[in-house]
Amino acid sequence: MFKMTDKKYLTADIFDNEDQKLLTDCTLCPRECRVNRFEEADGYCGADAGLNIASICIHRGEEPPISGPNGICNIFFAVCNLRCIYCQNHDISRPESGCRQHTMDLKTALDIIEEILSKGIKAVGFVSPSHVVPQVKAIIKGLNSRGLKPITVYNTNGYDKPETLRTIGKMIDVWLPDFKYATAETASEYSDAGDYPEVALKAIKEMYYQKGSSLISDESGTAERGILLRHLVLPGHAEESKKVLRIIAEKISPGIHLSLMSQYHPTHHVRNHPILNRPLYKKEYESVIEEMGKLGFRNGWIQDMNSFENYRPDFSKEHPFED
Ligand code: SF4
Repeated sequence: MFKMTDKKYLTADIFDNEDQKLLTDCTLCPRECRVNRFEEADGYCGADAGLNIASICIHRGEEPPISGPNGICNIFFAVCNLRCIYCQNHDISRPESGCRQHTMDLKTALDIIEEILSKGIKAVGFVSPSHVVPQVKAIIKGLNSRGLKPITVYNTNGYDKPETLRTIGKMIDVWLPDFKYATAETASEYSDAGDYPEVALKAIKEMYYQKGSSLISDESGTAERGILLRHLVLPGHAEESKKVLRIIAEKISPGIHLSLMSQYHPTHHVRNHPILNRPLYKKEYESVIEEMGKLGFRNGWIQDMNSFENYRPDFSKEHPFED
């Protein structure tokens, strides 16, 4: 049972009837907890129906078409529908460890986003949105009602339901999903979601069905439409990563834009884990890159081995990604 956030910010007015119903008997994500999030925050994710946000900030460290030349306005939602034991953003994703979050009304969120967009930022990224799809819709509608039409990026762990994705598909310009695991064993052990491989595959197929494999960018190189699939290579799991790539190539397309990430950094939560307690070795990452080439992936990004130094946000700061 998790603590309720401030009830004064809980309002059904910002949601349409369908989303009010969904939040009253929550089946938004594959956990299907069926809790009333206007009354309690005791579903798996620990989120009520409010706008619980860890940070709204400019992020310049995403893939070049996502960050664009000036960065993206990322909205980091608090808590998550997965429990990855190595989570790189654990201080905002875990309700049980005193998750950092600000509960705010819609106007306050829109004011902050509008101010950031006024600095020449073109895109708004919704980070960990799977458990807050109605809130994401409310924010996009609110921005549109102010005459703001930023590029919208749905930055997800991949543990999404196709039905839910269909309800928001027309409002999202760029899908940015993870595909984390190929096997139920790893998904169960590391993220408490043994069905992750099949769930994520269905979710990504839905995104692919909606946008195809293209990633269309504007003259500044900022992605305006499409899908970019991410995979983080974990230490000791190069073979799992190769399986993930084979699934993508066989069941989706090697033409999809792929970001193969090496930025894994062991947090203190896995300090004593026998496998995840170290960074990724160069030879592990290179073997996965080699497989990427063999499978015919032709659109994508890889990272330097020291990338993890640039991807360690401090969410206690107003600007988590800046020194
Ligand atoms: S969004 Fe949260 S409460 Fe709703 S089904 Fe998923 S984990 Fe459960």
